[in-house]
Amino acid sequence: MMMKKSEIISRIHELRKRRGAVILAHNYELGEIQDIADFQGDSLELSIRAAETDAAEIVFCGVRFMAETAKILSPEKRVILPAPQAGCEMADMADAESLRALKARHPGALTVCYVNSTAAVKAECDMCVTSANAVRIIQSLPRDREIIFAPDRNLGSHCAAQAGRELILWDGCCPVHARMTPEMMLRRRAEYPGVPILMHPEAPPEVAQMADELLSTGGILRFVRESEEKKFIIATEIGILHRLQVENPDKVFIPLTEQAICPHMKLIRLEDLLRALETGETEVTVPEELRKAAEKPIRAMLNA
Ligand code: SF4
Repeated sequence: MMMKKSEIISRIHELRKRRGAVILAHNYELGEIQDIADFQGDSLELSIRAAETDAAEIVFCGVRFMAETAKILSPEKRVILPAPQAGCEMADMADAESLRALKARHPGALTVCYVNSTAAVKAECDMCVTSANAVRIIQSLPRDREIIFAPDRNLGSHCAAQAGRELILWDGCCPVHARMTPEMMLRRRAEYPGVPILMHPEAPPEVAQMADELLSTGGILRFVRESEEKKFIIATEIGILHRLQVENPDKVFIPLTEQAICPHMKLIRLEDLLRALETGETEVTVPEELRKAAEKPIRAMLNA
């Protein structure tokens, strides 16, 4: 028999208490998942939360590389991904073997990876970055070394321009942000003259240069909170509109495009979260040797 939504929610509360689990939800998850989570945030914020909590069990509502990052930073905790098939098309565009081959062609280069990468790719890198700290970290790297940047060529181009550095870019991108076009920007500008467009730097450079602000998801949330403006055009995955609206009920948010939906971020529904709490499935594991190697660039970033 189908359970009512209210029954599912009360069962989730009961089970998370019984298991001593903390529920984390990425800003792009469905609203119903963001609402029931203990913490919402971007992938790194959530991994830091996971490391800081006393809970022995983390239920990570996000995609695999995020749950892996949480496990890398908190090996003693049990990390559960309620939708084991939730991947990231951008992360999957880079593989360790090809990255090793690129490194071999550039001996002496520093290798930097976006946090949106697999544990195997992170293990090949000197430094990890997020969209919030990438420019600052790239700026701080020694100027006499070449820099390889993987897997997002768009975030890499943005960093290269901002930091005034040439980067050897991996040819990956986020298909959700790659869908954004200059025509969409022109249409929204015409529909909402004077309304600021806040965009994520995963967007292609020809679109990004038309935005008013290029910001990480955390940066978008902060900008809106502190702004006197009442209306914003949001150019990233549309899941973030839920949190923006909850935090700013008096403000209006217009997506650049309704098509900016990451299917992987929409896989977890309340029923899946309940099943994960009932069964403890699916646990995310990272072999210890790989975990240690992948932890190094993440720690380097946290200390940078
Ligand atoms: S929105 Fe893009 S970068 Fe984020 S999980 Fe989906 S495919 Fe990956």
